[in-house]
Amino acid sequence: MDKSIKIELRSDTFTLPTSAMLTAMTQAKLGDDVYGEDPTVRELEAKAAHMLGKEAAIFMPSGTMANLASIMAHCPRGTKVLVGDESDIYIYEAAGASICGGVMYEPIKTKSDGRLDLYDLQQSIPRDTTDPQFALPGLICLENPHNRMGGRVLPLSYLVDIQRFSKQHNIPVHMDGARIWNAAITMGIPASTIASYVDSIQFCLSKGLSAPIGSMVAGSQAFIQNVYRIRKMLGGGMRQTGVIAAAGIVALDQMINRLEDDHINARLLAKGLAKIPGIICETQVETNIVFFRVTDSRFTWEKVVHFLQQHGVYVDELGHGRIRAVTHAGIKTEHIEQALKVIRHMLA
Ligand SMILES: *Cc1c(COP(=O)(O)O)cnc(C)c1O
Repeated sequence: MDKSIKIELRSDTFTLPTSAMLTAMTQAKLGDDVYGEDPTVRELEAKAAHMLGKEAAIFMPSGTMANLASIMAHCPRGTKVLVGDESDIYIYEAAGASICGGVMYEPIKTKSDGRLDLYDLQQSIPRDTTDPQFALPGLICLENPHNRMGGRVLPLSYLVDIQRFSKQHNIPVHMDGARIWNAAITMGIPASTIASYVDSIQFCLSKGLSAPIGSMVAGSQAFIQNVYRIRKMLGGGMRQTGVIAAAGIVALDQMINRLEDDHINARLLAKGLAKIPGIICETQVETNIVFFRVTDSRFTWEKVVHFLQQHGVYVDELGHGRIRAVTHAGIKTEHIEQALKVIRHMLA
C-alpha cells in the first residue's frame, strides 16, 4: 500500500459526503425553514421521528446545540442536570447548559461500560424535595454508545431500569445518541426500541453516517415545539436548510447498514493491537471506537501520536493518556492492516 496515503482514524466526523449526497444537495426542494417551509427539512424531520418512534423531530446544526436545546427544554433555570462525568455533554460542550440555561451540571461517576449507577443517581436527588436549599434534578442524560468509554452500548436491561427510575422520580431522560445507529446495529434492534426508553434523543448525521452537517433531536410534539423556540434563540434557525438536510436524508436511507463494516474493522484493529507487545487495548470493542494505551516506557502518548502521524496514521489522545482510533466509511480493511504495520514498526 502507498505509504503517502493518509489513514484518518481521529474521528468518524472526518467522513465526507457521498456522491449521492452531493447530488441530492444540488437537487433539493428548498424553502425558508424559519417559516417552516423547507420541504426537504420537513421530510428529514418526519423520517427521523418515524425511525426513532417519536412524535416529532427537529434538525439541528450540531450535536452540541441538539444536547443544549434539549437540556434547556427539559430543565427550568436553577435546576440541575445529572450527567456522566465522562460524557460529551459534561466534557466537550463548553458548559452551555450553565451559561445559556442557568442549569447546574451534576457529574455522576461513569461506569466502565458507560452506565450511570442508579444508586449514584439516587444520591443526587434530595431526600426532601420541598427543602428549599437544594437544587432539584430536572433531567438525566445518558450517552449511548459511550464515546469516552470506548463506544460501549447500554444494555436494554439497564434502559428498563433507568426508565423505571425516571418514572418513579418524575425526572425525564435525554439520550445523547450521537452514534445511536451504531448501537442499534450492534444490538440488532431498531433504534426506535432504544429510544422508547427515553423522553428525548439526539443523534448526529455528521459522524458515521457521513453527512457533512447536522444532528436531529426527537421527542414528543410538545417537547420539540419547545426545542424549536430554543434553537431560534441560540441562533440555530437557518433558512434554505434543505441544502444540508438533503444529505441527511441520504444518510438515513443509505448509510446505516454499512456501519457494520466499521465495527468489523474496529474489532480487527483491536485484535491486531492486542497482539503487539507494549500495547494494551483498554476496552471491549462494541462499535466503531477503539482505545489503546502504549505501555512501552520509551513512548509517551504525545510521542506515539506524533510518530504515527509522521507515518500517515492519524489518531489522537482522548482522555487519561489513552489513544482513540475511530473507524468509518473512509477506512477499509487494508487501512487497518497498514495502521497495524506502522504501529508494529514503531514498537519494534
Ligand atoms: C460528537 C458528539 C457530540 C457533539 O456533536 P457535534 O456535532 O460535534 O457538536 C455529542 N455527543 C457525543 C457522544 C458525540 O460523540
